[in-house]
Amino acid sequence: MTSVKSIAPISCLNYKQYKLSYFFESFSKYEFELGKKRNKANKYYNSLVMYFKKDILYIEDDLGVCPKCHSKSVFSDGYNDRLLYFYDEGAVNAKVKRYTCDNCGYNFITDLNGVVEPGCNYTRVFKEKVLEFVALFLGLVRKIAYKVKKDTGIDISHTTVENWILETENENKDIIKNYSGYYEFDIEHTKIKGEWNYRYTLFDSLHNISVADEVYPEEKKDLIKYFLDVNTRNQKKISITSDLDDKYKSIIEKLDFKHQWCLVHARKNINKTIKENIKENNIEKYEIKKIKDYKYKIFDLFESTSYKKARNDFNDLLKEFEDYPEIIRQILLKQIMPYFETYFLFLKDPKVPKTTNKIENYFQKTLPKHIKRIMKIPKGVMTRIWQRKKIWDTRNLKTT
Ligand SMILES: [Zn+2]
Repeated sequence: MTSVKSIAPISCLNYKQYKLSYFFESFSKYEFELGKKRNKANKYYNSLVMYFKKDILYIEDDLGVCPKCHSKSVFSDGYNDRLLYFYDEGAVNAKVKRYTCDNCGYNFITDLNGVVEPGCNYTRVFKEKVLEFVALFLGLVRKIAYKVKKDTGIDISHTTVENWILETENENKDIIKNYSGYYEFDIEHTKIKGEWNYRYTLFDSLHNISVADEVYPEEKKDLIKYFLDVNTRNQKKISITSDLDDKYKSIIEKLDFKHQWCLVHARKNINKTIKENIKENNIEKYEIKKIKDYKYKIFDLFESTSYKKARNDFNDLLKEFEDYPEIIRQILLKQIMPYFETYFLFLKDPKVPKTTNKIENYFQKTLPKHIKRIMKIPKGVMTRIWQRKKIWDTRNLKTT
C-alpha cells in the first residue's frame, strides 16, 4: 500500500481571525439582527466580533468607538470575564474586551446588549429558544427545564422560566392585515387563582385565525363593545356570530355588524326552555311527545338550504298555530319570530358562520382545560395563549 502524502490545508493553519458566526448559526443571527439595526440608526452595533481561542469566547468591538466622545482613537485595555449561556453552544466562558479612550480617558467595555441583557448569563437567543418551548409544552415549566437541560446541559430553574414567561411582552401580532369581516365572538370564563376571569376572543371565520384575544377581570357591556370596536377598526364589518347571551345583540348591531346566533347554542337554548317548562308545569307524557315533535320541526328549519324556504316553512308552521302546545307557541312567537334574521342570516350570505364551533375549537387548542387549571396569573395565561396563537395562526391561516 503506497502512502500518499497529503498536503496539510495550510491556509487553515494560517492565523485568521474567524468570526464565530462563520461557524455557529445562532451567532450569525446576531449579526443579521444587528445589521438591520445599524441600518436604522445605530452605527456602532454591527461591529461585534466573536471568536473562540482555546475554548474561550472572545468578544470585541471591531470599531472601538468611544461612547462618550465618539473618538475612534481607543486602545484595548484587557478583558472582563463573563459566563454566557448559548443554546447551541452551551455554557461558554467569554472574555469581553475593555477599552480606554485616548481622547477623553473614558473606560468602556464592548457593548453586549445585542447578545445578552445586562447582568444576565442567558443570551437573548437562549431565552428566545426557551420561550418557543412555552408554546410547544403548553407552558409546563418542568418539561421546559427538562428539555433545556437535555439539550444544553444547563440547569435552569422553574422560577427562571416562569419569570421569563411573565416578563415577555405579550405581543398579539396580526399576521394578516385585512380580515374577512366574518367573525365569531365568544367569552370564555376562566378561573385564575380562585378568581373568575373572562377571555374575550374575536375570530376570523374565513381566515380561520383569531383577531383578538384578551383576558379581562369582568364581563360587561362597555368592555365588550370596546373590545369589538377597537379590534375591527379599519376592517371590513360584515357579521358576527355569537351565542345567545342577551348582552351581545345590541352591541353587535350598534357597531354595524349583522348578527348571527350560533345554531348549536340556539338548539341548546330551545331544549332548555322546553325542559324547564315540562318540569314546572308537570306536563303529561303524551303532551311531552307532542312538544318534542314540534321541537324537531323547528330544528328542521335550521337545516334549511335557502332563506326563502326557511321563511316559507316558518310561515307554514304558524298556520295551525292554535293546536300547538303553549311552550311551542311561545318559542315560535317570542324567540324566533322577532329574531328571524338573527337565526337565518347564514342563508342570506353563506360566508356567515352558523355556529361558533371554530372559536370553541380554538379555545380548546390554545388553552386546554388541564392547562387552565394550573394557571396562576392572568399575564402568564395570556403569554401562553399568545405563544399558542402564533403556532395556531401559522398552521391554520387560510388565505383563499
Ligand atoms: Zn472618549
